[in-house]
Amino acid sequence: MTNFAATKAMFELPENILYLDGNSLGPLPTAAKSRVQNVLTDEWGELLITGWNKAGWMGMPTGLGDRIGRLIGAEPGSIVVGDTLSIKVYQAVASALELNPDRRIVLSDNGNFPSDLYMADGLLRSLGPDYELQVVDPENIADSITENVAVLMLTEVDYRTGRMHDMKSLTELAHANGVVTVWDLAHSAGAIPVDLAGCNADFAVGCTYKYLNGGPGAPAFIYAAPRLSAKVRPALSGWLGHEAPFAFDLDYRPGSGIERMRVGTPPVIQMAALESAMDVWDMADIADVRAKSIELTELFIRLVESSCPDLTLASPRDPQHRGSQVSFRFSEGYAAMQALIARGVIGDFRAPDTMRFGFTPLYIDETDVTKAAEILSDIMQKSEWDKPEYKVRHKVT
Ligand SMILES: *Cc1c(COP(=O)(O)O)cnc(C)c1O
Repeated sequence: MTNFAATKAMFELPENILYLDGNSLGPLPTAAKSRVQNVLTDEWGELLITGWNKAGWMGMPTGLGDRIGRLIGAEPGSIVVGDTLSIKVYQAVASALELNPDRRIVLSDNGNFPSDLYMADGLLRSLGPDYELQVVDPENIADSITENVAVLMLTEVDYRTGRMHDMKSLTELAHANGVVTVWDLAHSAGAIPVDLAGCNADFAVGCTYKYLNGGPGAPAFIYAAPRLSAKVRPALSGWLGHEAPFAFDLDYRPGSGIERMRVGTPPVIQMAALESAMDVWDMADIADVRAKSIELTELFIRLVESSCPDLTLASPRDPQHRGSQVSFRFSEGYAAMQALIARGVIGDFRAPDTMRFGFTPLYIDETDVTKAAEILSDIMQKSEWDKPEYKVRHKVT
């Protein structure tokens, strides 16, 4: 059984802040402070370039990949860390398309995170006018999977509402139609149990600064099924994905397995922080995290619905169809979120009217959830959101 009091004690959580935004940016694991300091002083400071060998910097992308893989049911050696998620989406979709050379359609849904759609669109434009990004309503995905589709690109958990796609059944349906799948696990990794190998997934990508707590700008990850990785030809064929980067050959030869999805020099300092974050995950069982997350989201929905009649639940009511976040719609949602933040409850806002709250059992418990709901109810009863200063839009919402 995961000891959540112990994991909570491993994070820096400012006093008087109730942090319900770990779905956007996880908090600082305390150990990351000394770990990053050591990388700066003892590794970079002392070892200089020899750190790549002596401190194992070059092996961090695959070492971290395996540690993330444990949370999402990936085979050892099937994940590598690096770049941003948008870049990893591009890489995965490009490789998936190449595995289906006679088809031209990438299918996705309008609940997907815009950057995934933008990246796919940009890639398809560079491939030529025959290529098409088909975007349908999430409920219509299954019906749109046909033998014309090359790639199914979906984010498992909707970033606005927490609605979940059924990865196993959609992957099966895709394969039955000869479609290659790309799953974005941005709101899944560290939030819900994922079984990539068991679902027979082809490609998956995700980020490490949300539920995994790797810090702002922490690198993304990419998964390719072991049955595919030897066939994949990376579109972003950088030197560190080459079979022998230090041979400095003029011709590109892909590296072995998932290593070929590396692009350039990895972000060592940021990966050191991510290693400390993964040390916390070593103490957690993702099944316990899921069970606790369901308890917390159910509690929050119950408290908010009973005390805030102006808020409408935007997330699925059935916890089996909901990730680890809860969203409510309110016409003045932006201002209400600013009023909440002013009172120390941090969630976020997604246009046009959605107030979003993330639930992260590693460091959020029932007491936090109860207090947050009380403050929200107080703000709603007093219309505390109705002040000009709460209506000024900031750059990051
Ligand atoms: C958070 C998120 C991103 C962000 O991509 P970055 O390149 O890391 O900024 C992309 N896609 C999805 C589905 C996300 O949730």
